[in-house]
Amino acid sequence: MTNRIYNFSAGPAVLPVAVLEEAQRDLVALPGVGMSVLEISHRSKPFDEIIQGCEADIRKLAGIPDNYHVLFLQGGASMQFSMVPMNLLPAGGKADYISTGSWSKKAIKEAQKVGKVNVAASTESENFTRVPTQDEIKLDPEAAYVHFTTNETIHGVEWKYDPRTGDVPLVADASSDIFGRPINVENYALVYAGAQKNLAPAGVTLVFIRDDMLARSPEGMHTMLDYNTHAKNNSLYNTPPVFTIYIMRLVMKWLLEQGGLAAAEQRNQEKAALIYGVIDASDFYRGHAHKDCRSLMNITFRLPSEELEKQFVSEATRAGLDGLKGHRSVGGIRASIYNAFPKDGAEALAAFMKEFERSHG
Ligand code: PMP
Repeated sequence: MTNRIYNFSAGPAVLPVAVLEEAQRDLVALPGVGMSVLEISHRSKPFDEIIQGCEADIRKLAGIPDNYHVLFLQGGASMQFSMVPMNLLPAGGKADYISTGSWSKKAIKEAQKVGKVNVAASTESENFTRVPTQDEIKLDPEAAYVHFTTNETIHGVEWKYDPRTGDVPLVADASSDIFGRPINVENYALVYAGAQKNLAPAGVTLVFIRDDMLARSPEGMHTMLDYNTHAKNNSLYNTPPVFTIYIMRLVMKWLLEQGGLAAAEQRNQEKAALIYGVIDASDFYRGHAHKDCRSLMNITFRLPSEELEKQFVSEATRAGLDGLKGHRSVGGIRASIYNAFPKDGAEALAAFMKEFERSHG
């Protein structure tokens, strides 16, 4: 095998080596099929088994109740910024959005094109260093739904609780922490997540939608933008990204073999603790997020100067630690350590950080 470096990219991101090896082994001909997964029809029996097996494993991993549809859609999580309000926000209605970072703001921008948006809470004045407490969220009982972002990929801020919204349906963008920890699907009316962090390569967006939400889509909706189309056709109304779904199938199998979501959370906590531990023990590194809501997936921190940050990134890259430059809107360093990121990579970064502080601090 060619040498793999440590890939801290925020997405597309690292995939399990076992999955890559299986895909490589079976790429030219799927066992028993005699054709590559890249070449088979999405209407074929082998692909049926792949997409149905993938859904079954997703249901098992997340404990998804029977009254939810699991959909495989395209257009990225960004398309969901539009599909959610187009389907769930009735004409003349209003929706509550909680603003915790760049991704919530993008969702808000699209919803405002469809209807009235109430920003029920925002931590923007604090530079998105935390999520709001339940008390700070000013909910409108007449809202069509409440939308929030479970993990802000750019700021490295993650909710440690599900906001309580009473009878108002809760909608979550879980793109960057889905399946990094257990999920209480019953708490949500709709969950969506782009695949390219914890689930698969880019190309598919996973959606869980509670059946009663499907009745909300207005008459005359564009076919491809209507959740009902995809629910009725088991995500096979048009040609789905077969290769991405095939890899997702392998990743779900891998997650189950590794002990499921509780075990994944345990590993993620151990990895994150290695890096947060260095930040907490130092005055040189400054974490961006408050301790009680810092992300298990995207660790964001600053150094004393931008000059040192640049140097940190370039020396780390030379040491085989790739993708550590923070998002341009926040700056600093971001270490993304999704499910498939190995613990020895977190150990390597922690050691590198200590050495960098010793030699530059
Ligand atoms: N939401 C979150 C939380 C994200 O991290 C991202 C991508 N980084 C998106 C939405 C947008 O996803 P996509 O690129 O799949 O449209």
